Formats: sequence, structure tokens, C-alpha cells
Amino acid sequence: MSSISKETLQRLPAYLRHLKELQKQGVENVASKAIAKVFNYTSVQVRKDFASISEEAGKPKTGFSVNRLVKDIAEFLGYNNINEAVLVGVGNLGHALLSYSGFKDYGLDIVGAFDINPNIKLVHGHKIYNLSKLESFIKRFNILIGIIAVPKDSAQDICDLMIGAGIKAIWNFSPCNLVIPENIAIINEDMASSLALLSQRLSKILKKEKNQ
Ligand code: ATP
Repeated sequence: MSSISKETLQRLPAYLRHLKELQKQGVENVASKAIAKVFNYTSVQVRKDFASISEEAGKPKTGFSVNRLVKDIAEFLGYNNINEAVLVGVGNLGHALLSYSGFKDYGLDIVGAFDINPNIKLVHGHKIYNLSKLESFIKRFNILIGIIAVPKDSAQDICDLMIGAGIKAIWNFSPCNLVIPENIAIINEDMASSLALLSQRLSKILKKEKNQ
């Protein structure tokens, strides 16, 4: 197995979803060419991606074992070890995150949700705790992942509070740049930049259509 690029890593969840679908249909083996076709990649790319996370080499006639790839990708992505997380900010976005039941399939379980608004008490079966309980909750249950869905003006304070209590990885949904120490992992879900990219691609497509 070689070291893995960020691009390969980002492709793995989609491969896994597709392979699980094949598994459901009872498909035992799949050719890299067939997978490449689904995702519009080359089969060389697919084989390279698989080689970086699995020792399953694939056979010329039968292709790759679907079960083996599902197992290896899930293991590589850590989906077999559920990580517990806390969520702070139960507005529209927080509600949506709490109501999504699919996170467990991706190895994430939101075990505590917090807000400053005492009127938000229960959301999709999750009891909502007052923010004052956040620090002790993180410490008591040794939670490592913090999800931030508060308005941008409060995000840095929440981030500092989380890190001070022992959080090591932040999934930030607030539209702001958080200042964090080097030993903390962060992923910013910047919807504004995703939307900018989508709009730019849309205008390119529309321009192309106009010129045809
Ligand atoms: P969004 O769609 O971004 O969730 P919203 O309009 O539903 O937007 P926001 O004003 O963004 O709500 O606030 C999100 C939630 O964060 C609210 O439920 C609010 O009570 C909560 N909140 C705000 N500041 C804090 C804070 N410092 N600590 C915890 N929760 C907070």
C-alpha cells in the first residue's frame, strides 16, 4: 500500500457507497472498468485508488472482490470505529444535522447537542443541553469531535471552549475562519465557497450552451 492523496481519500466514500449497492444486488466481483464508467474516471485511476488502501489486487478475468473492497475501504476510513461527537448550535442547520441518521454509517455519532436557547429542549430524539454543560460533558465522556453550527460571531468562543475541554477535531459549519492550535484538526464546511464554485460552473455551462 502506498501513501494516500487527499483526492483519493475524497473519492473513497463514493466508491464505498457504490460498492455497497453492488453488494446489496448480490454482485461478487467488479471490474475497475465498470467502476470507472460510473464515476467517469479512468480504470487506471480506480485501480490506483484501490491499490492505495487495499491489498486486493483484482484478477484479470473476475475483477475485484466487492466484499473485500467494502471491508478494506470501510476499515481505512475508520467507519468501523464509531467516533462520538458533540454539536453546538441547534438552529436550522443543527436541526438538520441532528435529524440525519446516516452519520453512523460514516462512523460518527452525535451524542450531545448544546444551545444557549433554553427553549430548544428536544430535537429528533436528542435532548438539547444548556451550553454551560458542554465542558463537563466533553471531559466526562472523552469526546474528541466537535461540530460547530452557531452564528459566526460565537464560533471562535465555542471553538476555544471545545478545545479547552479536550476536543481534537472540529467540523465547522460557521462561515468564519477559526484560529486553532496546530495539534487540532479542522474541516470548514464553507457553503459560500461551494456555492460560488457551483454558480461559476453553472455560468460556464450556460455560456457553452449559448455558443452551441
Ligand atoms: P442556521 O441555519 O445557521 O442554523 P438559524 O437562523 O437557525 O441559522 P443562528 O442564528 O445561526 O440560527 O443560530 C444557530 C443556533 O445557535 C441557535 O439555536 C442559537 O440559539 C445558537 N447559538 C447562538 N449562539 C450560541 C452560543 N454562543 N452557544 C450555543 N449556541 C448558540
